[in-house]
Order: sequence, then C-alpha cells, then structure tokens
Amino acid sequence: MNAAERYLTDHQDRFVDELLDFLRIPSISALPAHAGDVARAAGWVAARLVSAGLEHVQVIPTAGHPVVIGDWLHAPGKPTVMIYGHFDVQPVDPLHLWSSPPFEPAVRDGRVYARGASDDKGNMLAPILAIEALLQAEGALPVNLRVCFEGQEEIGSPQIPAFVAEHRAQLACDVVISADGGQWSESEPIILLGLRGGCGVQIDIRGAATDLHSGMYGGVIQNPIHALTALLATMRAPDGRILVEGFTDAVRPLSEADRAAIAAVPFDEGEYRAAIDVPALFGEPGFTPYERGWVRPTLEINGIWGGFQGDGIKTVLPNEAHAKITCRLVPDQDPTQIVQLLIDHVQRHAPPGVTTTVTPLRFTARPYLMPADHWVNQEVSAVLRELYGREPYHIRAGGSIPICMVLLEHLGVYTASFGFGLEDEGAHAPDEFFRLSSFAFGQRAYVALLRRLGARTA
Ligand SMILES: [Zn+2]
Repeated sequence: MNAAERYLTDHQDRFVDELLDFLRIPSISALPAHAGDVARAAGWVAARLVSAGLEHVQVIPTAGHPVVIGDWLHAPGKPTVMIYGHFDVQPVDPLHLWSSPPFEPAVRDGRVYARGASDDKGNMLAPILAIEALLQAEGALPVNLRVCFEGQEEIGSPQIPAFVAEHRAQLACDVVISADGGQWSESEPIILLGLRGGCGVQIDIRGAATDLHSGMYGGVIQNPIHALTALLATMRAPDGRILVEGFTDAVRPLSEADRAAIAAVPFDEGEYRAAIDVPALFGEPGFTPYERGWVRPTLEINGIWGGFQGDGIKTVLPNEAHAKITCRLVPDQDPTQIVQLLIDHVQRHAPPGVTTTVTPLRFTARPYLMPADHWVNQEVSAVLRELYGREPYHIRAGGSIPICMVLLEHLGVYTASFGFGLEDEGAHAPDEFFRLSSFAFGQRAYVALLRRLGARTA
C-alpha cells in the first residue's frame, strides 16, 4: 500500500463524518428559499478544498448559484486534469416517503441516507479526499489539477455556459473528469461515451374565433383537433419511424464495433418490462432497445390538449388544439437544424381550413460523443479493469448532461465520467443513499486514476 492509500484508510472515519456534515446543508438549487444554503455548501466545498491543499480556491458568484474553483499546477510536463461535480441537490418532497429526515444523514447497514448522498455530494467529495491523500501523504499530485464544482446542475446549469466562457483561462485543461456519475453495478464498471441532445416545438392550431355548436357547424368547417392529429400522424409512422423529411440525414451510421459494444451490455427484456410495467417494448424496427434508447433519435409528443374534457358530453366544435413535441438527438444532428426541419414539415403538412403555427421550445442541447479510444478513456478503462477485474461496458445515455457539450465547445476538451453511484441509490427520489463502501472505493479509484494520468506526458 502506498502512502496515499494508507492515508485514506487511516482517515476514513473522519472522511465519513465530513460527508455527513456536507449532507446536512440543504443546498436545494431549485428553491429560492434555499439559495443561502447553496451558497453555504459552496463555502463548505471551498474550505474543504483549501484544507485538502488546493490553491487559488475561489467561490465565484454567477447570476444564479456560485461556482467553486481551485487548482494545483506544479507538475510540469504532465497533463492538466479538471475534476467536475455539483454540490446542489434536488428537492426532497414527498417528505413522508423518507425513512429519516433528508438533511439529517443517517447511517444504516453501511449506507448513508440523505438527499444528495449519491447525487452528487458523496461522489464529488471522493476526488477531493483523494487529492488530500496525495498532497498530504506524498507532497505532490501526479498531474496538474483544476477543480470546478457548481451549484446549479439540478436546475440545468443556466449560468454555466456564460461562466465557462468568461473563465476560460482559469478552467483551461486537457481533459475533464466528472465525479457526477456511476457504474453499472457493484461488480460491473462502465465507460460513458455519449449523451443524446434535444430540441422541441409547440404546435398550435386555430379554427373559428370561438368554440361552435357541432350540430350547426359540424361537417362544414375543419375541427382543429382532427387537423392536429392528422398533422401529428405525418410525423411518426405507426411502427415508430420518424417521417419528418431530412430528420435522420445527419445521423452518423452505427459501426459494427458500436453495435457490438452495445450488444455486450446486459439486457433482460422481461425485467426491463416488469420494472416499468409495460405490456411490450416498442420502437423503430431494425434496432435493439439500447440502440433505440442511446444512439437513435426520437420524436415524442409530450402533451396534447384542446376541446371538452369535463364529465358527460358537450357537442362542441372546439376552436383550438395544441401539442408539445420534443426530440432526442444523436451525433451529428444539430438542434437548430432539426427545429427548422420540424417547422418546414409542419408548414408543408399544414391541414386545410385552420391556421397552424409552430414555435421552437426553449430546449436545445447538442448530442455528445467521446471517442472510445480517447487517451483518457484508455486510462479510465485500465483503472476500472484493475479495480473490478473485468472490462467496462461501453455505454451511452439517452438523456443530456449539458455541461459536457459546454466544456467541449468552450474549452475544446472532452469529459470522462468517473463516479461510483449505483442505480438503486434513489437519486432524485426519497431515501436517497450512498454506499460507504463506494465512498471509500471512489477515493482509492481517484488516487489510482490520477497516478495513471500522471504517467502520461502532456
Ligand atoms: Zn448529479
């Protein structure tokens, strides 16, 4: 055992106490009443970074919640690595479903129960402790290091693009390691390569100036709800294929290697169906469920409204109908271009006898894909192989983590995910917990990863 590893073992009780302290701060970014708590969490993180031995630690205000940065840049010729995480947490309701109060962390059976335990306080504290162990026990880090911890991830990081653009010099690095993530299971590691992007539109259809009597006008004028459903049916085929002209033109074809990597990820259709209680899976022909969920684009109607919805009947001819549609996008689709294709499609298929308008929604995220053979993925894979004794699955995620694209666009660097949360830990849900074994494991894993990255030259 090296000095840093021994330091981690010797100080584990203190580290757990510190995690509990951190978890007592109700840093809910979504609720304005907790803005002071988010700021308090930022201060806690900054103080913890200073005591770990990092330099130039600052809490930087934004128009929203603050960001904490710091660095240690004394490894000439070595790569500069930035560690990312977030100290804000999700709201806690419904409170009655918690077995113990969400901000009074409780340790039961080797797990700490509290809001933010897994997402992301336990995960983001692990690299800080790894850094402390290396600096205190060995006097130096194997790489140049920066940290960037934000307090607004759970509300979509609204001020982060501007923050990154304004602080390019203080964030400059060769690669980002995100401590906001997880593994497949306690025994199966993953490399997260890609995230889908997204965009959306709202469609509004108007007929007459007011609702009308269906006996007097029915059959004589167009019904906006029928017009809307006819229009929507032109956008996606009954078998799930997207019919919007040009929609999939930019989709990068899947290589045999991509398909093989996805096929290697365990999938049990029965379990999957049972977990969400659906009678059958559904999706674009010719693709497996993971392919549909990770590397194929989607077009989904998220909401549709109009007309009479009360008890009984109302023989009315409604005068308006509406739908909200969002898409998940994959490389190399561009959200702005896709929104234009949706607008063109709606205009081309606009039903007669009504007025159709289509408006972009305030939701755009570009898809993200990190090369599987990127040098950092090679090192992350090597560490995971050593720690787990098996090859990591190469997975992608169906959702979006906007910070990854922000860092790629503004700093030109990829973000590799290196976290130790597990899916059963109730992130965003009641009784969120983090395994203390994962907490300690994550610290050792970060020491191992930093050592490996330090064996590289910049
Ligand atoms: Zn998170």
